[in-house]
Amino acid sequence: MRTVLPASGIVLALAAGCITSDVTGRRQLMLVSQDQEIQLGAQAWQETLSGAKLVASGPVAERVRRVGGAIAAVTGKDYQWEFALVDDPQTVNAFCLPGGKVAVYSGILSLMRDDNELAVVIGHEIAHATCRHGGERISQNVVVQLGLQVADLFVANRSDEVRAWTNGALGMGASLGVLLPYSRDHEYEADEWGLRYMHKAGYNPNAAESFWGTMLKLSEGKEPPEFTSTHPATANRIERMQALAAELTTP
Ligand SMILES: [Zn+2]
Repeated sequence: MRTVLPASGIVLALAAGCITSDVTGRRQLMLVSQDQEIQLGAQAWQETLSGAKLVASGPVAERVRRVGGAIAAVTGKDYQWEFALVDDPQTVNAFCLPGGKVAVYSGILSLMRDDNELAVVIGHEIAHATCRHGGERISQNVVVQLGLQVADLFVANRSDEVRAWTNGALGMGASLGVLLPYSRDHEYEADEWGLRYMHKAGYNPNAAESFWGTMLKLSEGKEPPEFTSTHPATANRIERMQALAAELTTP
């Protein structure tokens, strides 16, 4: 009986740990609270940007904050939003951490034709946060870790250690979950909601076609930019965004 308990604990955690996203309406596994997620995001933000050359003021930093702020405002999410510009012309990248911490590198900004293209990228990153993709990934990692440990328990029969192991799994899941690239499903979701947000904020979602066209060209080069290694610019993704942009802009 003792060895069965942790396994049923996982089943209970899975049943009780599912929420319905208030953005997408999709059921998702969520073992961390929104507050925990925000805290983990803030911590990872400090660590990730500790060695980075941040641009605090000037027209370009203000542009990033203006476009980011306009899109964040239509999400209805009460996050501690931050939009940082990193001075690094070699890095073609942008990312978002849970709780609304968005970083844009000068290397990707220089490839953008206008604010609409910047809104494509920032909208996408913001959608990862509002759809709680970070928290979902942490939860998935926790279940994987717990599964491994329950397998151990069946052998060792040490059910009094379950609690400590669960906490250990949460720690491991969190450190992996915040920084790993998102799944393909999360990318599609962020594409969709990013376009909806930017359109609602007054930007033109048709800019997705030109921006992703640029990324597609770059990713065919010898050294594909960082952004396209975590965001493969597949024809399928671009087609879906074009279709949604057309739908949004058709009166
Ligand atoms: Zn993404």
